[in-house]
Amino acid sequence: MKGVTILGATGSIGMSTLDVIARHPGRYRVVALTAHRQVERLYTQCLRHMPDYAVMGDEDAAGQLAARLSDAGACTRVLSGMDGLKVVAALDEVDYVMAAIVGAAGLQPTLAAARAGKRILLANKEALVMSGRLFMDEIKAHGAQLLPIDSEHNAIFQCMPADFQRGLGEVGVQRILLTASGGPFRTTPMDALEQVTPEQAIAHPNWRMGRKISVDSATMMNKGLEVIEACWLFNARPEQIQVVVHPQSVIHSMVEYADGTVLAQLGNPDMRTPIAHALAWPERIAAGVHSLDLFDVAHLDFEVPDPVRFPCLRLAGEAMAAGGTASTVLNAANEVAVQAFLDGQLRFTGIHCLIEGVLDALPVHVADSLDTVLEADASARRVAHQQLMKLAG
Ligand code: NAD
Ligand code: MG
Repeated sequence: MKGVTILGATGSIGMSTLDVIARHPGRYRVVALTAHRQVERLYTQCLRHMPDYAVMGDEDAAGQLAARLSDAGACTRVLSGMDGLKVVAALDEVDYVMAAIVGAAGLQPTLAAARAGKRILLANKEALVMSGRLFMDEIKAHGAQLLPIDSEHNAIFQCMPADFQRGLGEVGVQRILLTASGGPFRTTPMDALEQVTPEQAIAHPNWRMGRKISVDSATMMNKGLEVIEACWLFNARPEQIQVVVHPQSVIHSMVEYADGTVLAQLGNPDMRTPIAHALAWPERIAAGVHSLDLFDVAHLDFEVPDPVRFPCLRLAGEAMAAGGTASTVLNAANEVAVQAFLDGQLRFTGIHCLIEGVLDALPVHVADSLDTVLEADASARRVAHQQLMKLAG
């Protein structure tokens, strides 16, 4: 039995992970579940999966959860805050850690899992984007294993030769073809983008996901973050990665080899496939996913991404090229901008302006320690809020 901690258990990825695990009761044991403030959902999950630990990021919520669980006679121990998250990511009885907290809040618990040498199933791309080299160094130094959950990166991993860490050129890989759906506004008239609402932005055509990543998909910042994520995961340079808009989301990404071969991974757009892949790797287990009906799909289309429609893709490329803390700043500014858009304080077309303003305002530092990364994250959030007030005022 493999012991599993799910960071962000109440989210879209967390719930899909529990769905896959419940299909294989003899194989995985849930050791810990965590959430931010969703007491009711974590309570139900605890009664169903009987973890040893539950963590709420929020202190008050932890108190409420502990009282509910004690009334129900459950013996789950409740911890709270960042310390609690770090503890359950590093427990001896845990083999696998699903990193599915959204945003920068997931960085420290995920690093704790790396330092404890766990198998990390990485959904929380923001953690890797904001700390890049530092994150990869911790994985290597502590013999941890990093398996991508992001559907594209999981697809790339499946199409790569086993020894890809030697360097893409060394193993005959020419290019990574990173697919993107193009989101809900791929064909929306440009002059209508200014007026789009959060409800329209989170209505993704192919995937049901949390609100933040859904807005990122609409701006294509998600793909920008994914280019950075792929550079770190696969030891690739940005120019070795081509973003390909593929509206059907059936091909989840491709790898092109020196001999002209292109390997693709296909499947229905259902995150339980990459989750089951990473849980069982190198074996294969059932994920509860419908089999792919190619006659129903019928067409696979491909387009070049439109740089005018999706300026966030350019901003992410520039941040990666600048190196150091630039990606940390990009990520933090994006988190503030997306939240402001969801709260009705910023127009959809203001998202990229705010991010660019913050990137322009802050110097780039060498990202050589966790403190430097956390400081860059905090400065970017501060400047983003200042610029937001000016925009609103
Ligand atoms: P979600 O919003 O549905 O869930 C987020 C989870 O994180 C929840 O359990 C929430 O309680 C927890 N959380 C949020 N803020 C927290 C905080 N400050 N402290 C502690 N916990 C906190 O998000 P999601 O769609 O499941 O996405 C999770 C991560 O996976 C993101 O990084 C996203 O980019 C990535 N991802 C998601 C999908 C998808 O299909 N949903 C696909 C690829 C990658
Ligand atoms: Mg993805």
